[in-house]
Amino acid sequence: MKIEEIIKLDKANYLNTFGDRIPVAFERGEGVYLYTEEGESYLDFFAGIAVNALGHAHKNFTEALHEQLDKLLHTSSIYYVKNQALLAQRITQNSCADKVYFANSGAEANEAAVKLAKIYFYKQDKNKTDVITLRSSFHGRTMAMVAATGQEKYQKPYYPLTPGFSHVPINDIAALKAAITDKTCAILVEPIQGESGVHPLEMSYAKKLRELCDEKDIILIFDEVQTGMGRTGHLFAYQMLGVEPDIFTLAKALGGGIPIGAVCAKDFVAKGFEPGDHGGTFGGNPFATAAGLAVFDIIEKEHLCENAAIMGKYLAEKVKALSLPQIKQIRQFGLMIGIETEDGAAQLWQKSLFEHKVLVGSVAGKILRVLPPLIVERLQIDEFVEKLSETAK
Ligand SMILES: *Cc1c(COP(=O)(O)O)cnc(C)c1O
Repeated sequence: MKIEEIIKLDKANYLNTFGDRIPVAFERGEGVYLYTEEGESYLDFFAGIAVNALGHAHKNFTEALHEQLDKLLHTSSIYYVKNQALLAQRITQNSCADKVYFANSGAEANEAAVKLAKIYFYKQDKNKTDVITLRSSFHGRTMAMVAATGQEKYQKPYYPLTPGFSHVPINDIAALKAAITDKTCAILVEPIQGESGVHPLEMSYAKKLRELCDEKDIILIFDEVQTGMGRTGHLFAYQMLGVEPDIFTLAKALGGGIPIGAVCAKDFVAKGFEPGDHGGTFGGNPFATAAGLAVFDIIEKEHLCENAAIMGKYLAEKVKALSLPQIKQIRQFGLMIGIETEDGAAQLWQKSLFEHKVLVGSVAGKILRVLPPLIVERLQIDEFVEKLSETAK
């Protein structure tokens, strides 16, 4: 089907939530490349917004999926699910979490994390119900997560918002202290804000945040939906900050393209959920958790955290060496990269890179977001940098 036909079909039938999309549709992928039906190839340095950590059609990954597909897709969490138990173990063995619950998306995992923090205090008869998050954050699109997300553009049409959420500027301890009340039950933050353009927590801020939460009996939740699963060169970004959250959430890369989210909690707070307190039909089904297990296997076997660290550094150094006058700052954490430019430049570059058959993202016209699959190699980074230099001339 020609792209013009697909666009026409979409406009006629699909809700207009995405507006005029980038005018391309892909038929298949291989490694860090995507291919249209006509066989045109694109270098994918956006990885489905940090989902396709293993790139596309990774052989061992698709084999594991096929194997599970032929056996069983879904049963129900009213029965025990082997892959669910195994994937939960994989996460607890590799993180500060003691218990895991599976959802189907990032927003849904964050919802469950906030519910867990609330019920933890509810069961102690404590009137702690409120959640503090950061401005410019992004936590998803459900009603409660729209309230959690510190960006008015996502909230305005949906008033009244879920009550109990307030927002403070990032890396401002005084503002945070001022916002904390006796009713604060949780502070929810991204270790590195992704959607708003790669803005990290400072290490000193993260440390103070942890201390404040301990001091004031507040649950610290890290939204690692985007930063988790090796993206930053660490399996989880909290390891980079040197601070352990009480709860962290995962989604995007966890299923390598199969929808799955996770709430990962320390024992003391995990105890808040008892039978009947939370649930979902699909969460952690045999297929989604098989995908998660295969993602863990491949990240370990192919040393993808290390690769993300090395390749991210390589990419940032090569971009720096171009000495492009439009670039103001390069924020690079493994393969989570934001290139801040003069106003408008990033948007122009994204467009022009697309014409050069390279896929990246941009924020507010001035931050180029580069999120290659974690399997990326030097040669492909060289290709990206060459195209960027042609584009930015
Ligand atoms: C993408 C994202 C979400 C939302 O995940 P969905 O699967 O789209 O619901 C939440 N938090 C962060 C940090 C994200 O990057």
